Amino acid sequence: GMLAEMGYLFTDTVESADLVLYNTCAVREHAEDRVFGNVGALKNRKAARPGMVVALCGCMMQQPRVAEKIRRSYPFVDLVFGTHVIHRLPELLYRTLCGRNRVFELPDEAGSITEGLPVVRDSSFKAFLPVMYGCNNFCSYCIVPYVRGRERSREPEKIIEECRGLIAEGYKEITLLGQNVNSYGKDLGTDYDFADLLSAINEIPGDYWLRFMSSQPKDATNKLFDTMARCEHVAKQLHLPVQSGCDRVLKAMNRPYTRAKYEEMIAYARSVMPGMVLTSDVIIGFPGETEDEAMQTVDLVEKTQFDALFTFIFSPRPGTPAAKMDDPVSREEKQVWFEKLVDAQNAISAKKHAAYIGRTVKVLVDGESDDEAFPLAARTEGNRLVRMKGDKALIGTFAKAKITDSNTWALYGEAVEE
Ligand code: SF4
Repeated sequence: GMLAEMGYLFTDTVESADLVLYNTCAVREHAEDRVFGNVGALKNRKAARPGMVVALCGCMMQQPRVAEKIRRSYPFVDLVFGTHVIHRLPELLYRTLCGRNRVFELPDEAGSITEGLPVVRDSSFKAFLPVMYGCNNFCSYCIVPYVRGRERSREPEKIIEECRGLIAEGYKEITLLGQNVNSYGKDLGTDYDFADLLSAINEIPGDYWLRFMSSQPKDATNKLFDTMARCEHVAKQLHLPVQSGCDRVLKAMNRPYTRAKYEEMIAYARSVMPGMVLTSDVIIGFPGETEDEAMQTVDLVEKTQFDALFTFIFSPRPGTPAAKMDDPVSREEKQVWFEKLVDAQNAISAKKHAAYIGRTVKVLVDGESDDEAFPLAARTEGNRLVRMKGDKALIGTFAKAKITDSNTWALYGEAVEE
């Protein structure tokens, strides 16, 4: 949005770009490696067109070791800025264009939240909307609190106003974002919490689904689940990362809940939302984890029956406590445990998807699918992917899909009249 206001437009080719801006993620090593590779590939282009500005921002830049590497080894990078000064992009770019020196703007501390920045959205019917920034939890494997700072919540009025605007413009799905939305409001100095925010947005009339991510089990409350159950616009979909099914590993991860507490929470959420779709994140191979402990996670997965799971093999992030822990198990062994986990979940996902066959469900048609026989891609209220037959004119609208087939990853069906 800021760049658009400065007169920049998108181009499809690097050759014709006046500005190349990489927004980086520090959560996994692989993504970091790719950034260095992609930026390195710009060296010759920059030599051929010195007027092109090469800029980097995002969480990776907020790590001093990375910024230093860019400073030393990538002299053709003109501008580097951190996560706390995104709102100053126009000024920083202006300084880069006018000055002779490279600009590195990387303050440690976040100031107050800057509201009212211009936004250009990719979609005219799906919107992502940050409700808070930062995280206070310091899970021992996670770099996020170091690069995004402490929790800062936006004022509820600003969020509600933005939602009202989006719904008035015809948006059909709004996803509220935060590293840990369940602790929304704790820094506002009032009793107002995330469940209150959901209730308030739900009051806005219209035809839309409200989603949110991500959640920390330690801050999830029965009030939240009751609110989800009661609010007609709130999708009955819960993404609640458990990370491990073993209490010792959870403690080492600095995740302050137990497996039993997690299971109790899910049982309550399911009791008030019987059709709820439940997904989670799991890490296999945390430093010091034994095979028995990894299998406790597989056991939790089998007992909990998640609809889908985001699974990861532990990736050490320099600067976090877990990166310094003893990690005697080989990658090969972790891979074997990982495959057991994935096999268990795939069987569950396939079974859960098969149960949709014959049902007619409400979907939001997202766009075109890559499957010629089922040319539309859509999502159910529970965010399950549906590949379906139907008219392209349905894209961007709610429709009904009759489910005729399924596999581990998707449902298949056709558009039917209301
Ligand atoms: Fe990272 Fe999430 Fe833990 Fe915060 S709650 S430290 S973002 S894993």
